[in-house]
Amino acid sequence: DHLSNLIAAGEVVSRPMNIVKECIENSLDAHANSIEIEVFEGGISGVIITDDGDGMDPEDALLAFSNHATSKLKTEDDLFKIMTMGFRGEALASIGAVASVDLQTNDGNQGTHIKFEYGSNTLHEEYACPKGTRIEVRGLFSRTPARLKYLKKANYEFSVIAEAVNKLALSHPNIRFLLKHDGRTIFQTSGKGNQKEVLYQMYGREAAENCLPFSASSDDFQIDGYAIQPKISRASKNSIYVSINSRIIRSWPITNAVVEGYREYLPKDRYPIFLINIEVDPQLVDVNVHPNKLEVRLSKEEFLSQLIINTIENLFYDQLD
Ligand code: ADP
Ligand code: MG
Repeated sequence: DHLSNLIAAGEVVSRPMNIVKECIENSLDAHANSIEIEVFEGGISGVIITDDGDGMDPEDALLAFSNHATSKLKTEDDLFKIMTMGFRGEALASIGAVASVDLQTNDGNQGTHIKFEYGSNTLHEEYACPKGTRIEVRGLFSRTPARLKYLKKANYEFSVIAEAVNKLALSHPNIRFLLKHDGRTIFQTSGKGNQKEVLYQMYGREAAENCLPFSASSDDFQIDGYAIQPKISRASKNSIYVSINSRIIRSWPITNAVVEGYREYLPKDRYPIFLINIEVDPQLVDVNVHPNKLEVRLSKEEFLSQLIINTIENLFYDQLD
């Protein structure tokens, strides 16, 4: 019902970035090869996410706006083997509760056009559109002024969106991403599968040329990624990216292991640009910790930390005086 969707929306959608992130994750789940994100005034006046994925049939497209209408969690057991990005079935219902959503989707058989505005379905018609899905969200929080008040300036809201898109592009280098702000292209990847290209887009040529590829494995973990030469260091930890089974997450234990690995090579209070992809049996990952899905818990984390520290130390061993 509308009230519980409004409450859920408070958890899932607090700023335009959440909408962009949820929609991109849905596009990824729908096997898109290309995802375009258009942002207007930091997302405050609107966002459009267009993909070339599986699309939805007319019934599923409407169902997508009802609470817990996930098509992705079929059995209880799946909860422990989550490989898709979304699984709570709350995102579209939440967005549709607090904004005006225009959805165009085509599953290859039929095109559908739906409008869902502040909790009500106002349009459901057959429609000619290309295969895939286009979601346009306008008027975020315009019926809930208390929430509207918490949005910051357009430039800030956009920077948060750009950071989220960067991370998704990093963890999905085989997908083509295009990010536009008020008509200007800000970020673009080719989708050719090269994470170094994404780092280049984010940090420029010098950083990209100075990143060393690494890979290592232990009983339970397989890791690879890019470690920037210690001479290219930064003042904050924000450039350490941790991806577990293609999902960028926040993990203090893993970030600290990276910092520890670099400890002898970097001045105090300097941090590397570092990207690590961790492959692990989903049974060892608990992603159902927070609705925003940023935090996970890992079993056997100490072994992973040691693997990371050893890998970094081996990589730069010859650089010690
Ligand atoms: P969840 O992703 O957790 O299942 P969402 O609210 O994000 O829940 O989406 C609800 C459903 O709508 C999804 O399960 C999916 O079936 C459908 N859906 C949403 N976005 C897309 C998309 N871009 N392409 C195809 N299907 C989509
Ligand atoms: Mg989703």
